[in-house]
Amino acid sequence: MKTYDVLIVGGGLAGASLALALKPLGLSLAVVETLSPETRRASPAGDRALALALGSVEIFRKLSVWDKAAAKAVPIHHIHVSDRGHFGKTRLHATELGVEALGYVIPARELEQAVLETCAHRAVDFICPAEVTGLKVLENRVEIRLKSDRETWRCQARLVVAADGGNSKVRQWMGIGQRVQDYGQVALVSTVECEKPHRYTAYERFTSSGPLALLPLAKRRCALIWSQETQQARKLQSLPSPEMEARLQQAFGWKLGALGLAAPLRAFPLRLIRAERLFGERVVIVGNAAHQLHPVAGQGFNLGLRDVMVLAGFLEEQQRRGGDPGAFTLLERYAKARVRDHDRVIGFSDGLIRWFSLSTSFSALGRNLGLLALDHLPPLKRRFSYQAMGMDQESGFL
Ligand SMILES: Cc1cc2nc3c(=O)[nH]c(=O)nc-3n(C[C@H](O)[C@H](O)[C@H](O)COP(=O)(O)OP(=O)(O)OC[C@H]3O[C@@H](n4cnc5c(N)ncnc54)[C@H](O)[C@@H]3O)c2cc1C
Repeated sequence: MKTYDVLIVGGGLAGASLALALKPLGLSLAVVETLSPETRRASPAGDRALALALGSVEIFRKLSVWDKAAAKAVPIHHIHVSDRGHFGKTRLHATELGVEALGYVIPARELEQAVLETCAHRAVDFICPAEVTGLKVLENRVEIRLKSDRETWRCQARLVVAADGGNSKVRQWMGIGQRVQDYGQVALVSTVECEKPHRYTAYERFTSSGPLALLPLAKRRCALIWSQETQQARKLQSLPSPEMEARLQQAFGWKLGALGLAAPLRAFPLRLIRAERLFGERVVIVGNAAHQLHPVAGQGFNLGLRDVMVLAGFLEEQQRRGGDPGAFTLLERYAKARVRDHDRVIGFSDGLIRWFSLSTSFSALGRNLGLLALDHLPPLKRRFSYQAMGMDQESGFL
């Protein structure tokens, strides 16, 4: 039976990025992924646009992914946050911070493609399409059951990484619970054609029916991410395009001129999910398997990519020492190292939703004064900008 040092379950963005970060270490390594590259490419989920923080772009440069992805990515030079029907707004500018961009927007499908191509180029062992169907922790290793459409087999690993997404089976098999908070909302996602140029601005507009983001894409297009209560979203989806466009126009306003839908609306249910622990015996959790956030602040994958890089850093140290990649102390260190970042980003995204869903005039006044203060107090604005960029003010990275 084959024994790996590290077996990664899930070859989505988090799992495949981890494989790239670990590849130079000389560990015996494989990624198991259910979806074939063709199925992934054809999946409508690939239509969602990802806002990558500048910190994530730096990571992708190091992993040699960015040369392949850059041509498909659009820079964010400005961020405009506003509260519909109120006076408060905040504007952030890349030039004020002396950075090339506050972040980049890229369709998920294009980023996945660039990551997978880099994996192929670097000869990462992808067991695909195949599914992990169970695991058993033994002394000093884990035994893993796998299944493809032709056969079932077993292998072993000294460390299993759960990068198997929000419904992580690995987490469940390890008996690790999760805290789930259902926002009762879905994100309606589409592409919008704008009459006026977006000037590389990401708009975040909080409306009474939910936050609405328009992220810059190539030419005069923007990616729409509009969170709505589930019932309301169903109604909007059933409207003929002109009526839906009128609702969108009413919610966003005329800053970008007339807005027209350029792709069908797709719905993604919105929940905040957080694993109760980030590791079990010889198993560690990264990416969406550890946390699934509301996309309002565009932070979910950015946070997952930092999980990946912190874990890769600890595994590199351990490899240099000739230590065990599944050692309890290493996994415990990883879990401790990630708590602060998880608390901060989850608190930030969740806080935005709560803050902007309060509808009393007192709370509306409070948040608009907050937006105004943010716009006029440079140190506060700098802190907020660095948070949005996924970077640390002193060291450059979180
Ligand atoms: C509408 C929307 C907008 C978003 N916008 C942003 C944004 O702007 N910025 C941002 O940072 N994030 C954003 N996100 C979040 C981001 O999409 C996710 O955080 C990211 O895709 C998660 O990647 P992952 O690899 O952890 O999980 P997944 O993408 O879920 O990958 C898990 C993989 O594991 C595989 N798998 C599962 N079970 C098994 C098994 N048993 N055996 C083998 N393989 C298995 C699956 O096939 C899948 O490929 C957004 C999300 C949504 C829904």
